[in-house]
Amino acid sequence: MVLSMAQFEAFVPMRNTLAVFGNPIEHSLSPALHIEFGRQSGLDFDYIAINVTPDEFPRAMELAREKLYGFNCTMPFKKLVVPYLDEIDEASKMLASVNTVLVHNKRLIGCSTDGAGMLDALTLSGCTIPNMQVLIVGNGGAALSIAHDLALGGAHITALVRSAEKGRIFADTLKDAAGLDAFSWTLAPDLTDDYDIIINATPLGMSDGDASPVNLNDFTRVKHVSDCIYDPPITALLLEAAKKGISWENGLPMLVAQGARSQKFWFNIEFSPEELSNTILSLRASRAKTRLNAVRGKANIALTGFMGCGKTTIG
Ligand code: NAP
Repeated sequence: MVLSMAQFEAFVPMRNTLAVFGNPIEHSLSPALHIEFGRQSGLDFDYIAINVTPDEFPRAMELAREKLYGFNCTMPFKKLVVPYLDEIDEASKMLASVNTVLVHNKRLIGCSTDGAGMLDALTLSGCTIPNMQVLIVGNGGAALSIAHDLALGGAHITALVRSAEKGRIFADTLKDAAGLDAFSWTLAPDLTDDYDIIINATPLGMSDGDASPVNLNDFTRVKHVSDCIYDPPITALLLEAAKKGISWENGLPMLVAQGARSQKFWFNIEFSPEELSNTILSLRASRAKTRLNAVRGKANIALTGFMGCGKTTIG
């Protein structure tokens, strides 16, 4: 259910209600994801999507204090929500990025789960984090959160940025937020072949015809490539990794894992790696069906493959 601001004004919660604020928000997977988490945990809550403009956001925050149990923020509100919070952990405040808010006694308590989501997603992919050299492409909100949490997990982080000034701000901000000396930056012409893991944290790859943000031929020791993007499911970067036989993953496991971390923040419940993997599989299946329907319409499809490869899940 997607509510406009006027509909949110009139909304009367029937039970604990969670929401996601964004613009645009129509294609957000968060409602489906959190409803699936609720089904698994047995907790009784509603989860709605609310489309607000930045001008409407202050009023939306007033209403959230009255009507919501908690909420997520996505673009463009991860940064804009910070001044409305009554409590925020020091790191999220310094990185100025919050995607999860708990409403407690009408107070807004925020944190970011994006970085931990990528950490969990990499672990699900079989990556070990301590002492890994990680190249993160980008210096925006996702890049900062991911860099922060991977560095706390023992990784060394380099950001591939578009200007030296942005690189310096990235490294200095993270050094202050994490209290670690694990951050550096590079410009494309100075890239070295030092990385074990590459993560794309830019929107490059979301649009048709987008090039890969790096050329994987420049790297000989990379073991894993992740993209924060999950739509399309395979970006030019991931296609290059697949062709070279490098382990790769799109942004869906990160999305699921950051959502699970939000559930923990709201309800103090945890999902096991197996539950996360099943949720990822089920979201993948429903997105595959949606894409197939969009391209082919409803038609008979024969699925072939070994036992346990996912025919029943998709079918
Ligand atoms: P953001 O704060 O707007 O940052 C975007 C970053 O990408 C900036 O560093 C920007 O560099 C860089 N960039 C933009 N266009 C570029 C281009 N053409 N070439 C190179 N760099 C470019 O966005 P964000 O919130 O960090 O999100 C980044 C991506 O992660 C988005 O695709 C978002 O959907 C995805 N994401 C996924 C999840 C998930 O759960 N899977 C969670 C969060 C975000 P400049 O500063 O130089 O402009």
